[in-house]
Amino acid sequence: MFTDMRSHDVQELHFFNDGDFHAVIALHNLKLGPALGGCRFIEYDSDADAITDAMRLAKGMSYKAALARVPQGGGKAVIMKPKGVFNRDSIFKKFGQAVQSLDGRYITAMDSGTTVDDMDIIRSQSLYVSSASHIGDPSPTTAKGVALGVVAAVQFKLNKKITGLTVAIQGLGNVGFALAEYLYKAGAKLIVCDVDSEKTKAAEHAFHAKVVPVSDIYDQDCHVFSPCGLGGVINEQTIQRLKCSIIAGCANNQLSEERIGELLHQQNILYAPDYVINSGGLIFASSRFRNLKQAYIDHEVVRLRDTLNQIFILSHQKDKPCNVIANEMAEHILYEGGHSMILEAV
Ligand code: NAD
Repeated sequence: MFTDMRSHDVQELHFFNDGDFHAVIALHNLKLGPALGGCRFIEYDSDADAITDAMRLAKGMSYKAALARVPQGGGKAVIMKPKGVFNRDSIFKKFGQAVQSLDGRYITAMDSGTTVDDMDIIRSQSLYVSSASHIGDPSPTTAKGVALGVVAAVQFKLNKKITGLTVAIQGLGNVGFALAEYLYKAGAKLIVCDVDSEKTKAAEHAFHAKVVPVSDIYDQDCHVFSPCGLGGVINEQTIQRLKCSIIAGCANNQLSEERIGELLHQQNILYAPDYVINSGGLIFASSRFRNLKQAYIDHEVVRLRDTLNQIFILSHQKDKPCNVIANEMAEHILYEGGHSMILEAV
């Protein structure tokens, strides 16, 4: 167990066990503040899989918070979804009590398999929830940050404005659709796909987007490819099909493996690290939890563009992939007190 914790640099693991309620809360690093991270409610094949998932995701949240400059550490919770019939309300009530028992060291939020209703049940038991119905939807803020990031990447890589350039968006969900609207208003041409034809029809109608089948999105001639649906979509197979100069989208874990970042770098494709460009959602959740005003959130989201620019510059100067640079910056902040490195750059 401790070997695993060391390999993920996780400080604390908390286990909860009550009837069919089995949950793990992993706290990766609390140096910058209380850990904030979502709660997954999915089926796992084994306890070990659930624990590893919680630790891996908690680490990702520490890195995201560090580069988003929010005063939060990284944490993540996993509730093992029971197979068969179960009482959902009872499970989330127990989870709320578990969160409360950590006295604010961990603030929970929505993630795969959880809903706003679940968060409201947790909130009936705990003060430490950042995505219950009273907080609101982070997606518009995430989309705004991604749009700013796309424009910054285009400026850096192509030395152009976005007007008249083509962006291929994969997935028109809460974030992808709002991103399409931002880019359309900025004068970009859009190519879109989604498994849900209602969403592609709406984008065709509202933004004159060209709709392509889901399987063809990687083959499109475009300046920017924007993954906004699933993770793992940039992999050894798809990378050979891409005809873009930039990858910049909201999806989490876009690279199937870290080493894919090196391949993108070699192929001269600029990659905006996912956890930086999509950190508007975390900025929103953290700020709303701390009762900060919308003006503050807007200001902080604009600053994520500065961090992205810093990553692009360092990647160019050091001839290293952007994902490696982002990780190094986050580790510098977390382990060497290096917040000034980012502040100096902006
Ligand atoms: P969402 O579920 O609203 O949207 C996902 C969209 O992708 C859906 O429209 C779905 O139909 C579509 N999709 C699924 N499979 C597809 C495929 N194979 N090809 C094309 N489209 C496909 O989710 P969202 O909130 O918009 O989030 C999108 C991504 O961004 C996720 O990876 C999420 O983790 C990440 N993210 C979201 C936020 C946020 O604030 N919502 C913040 C940070 C990161």
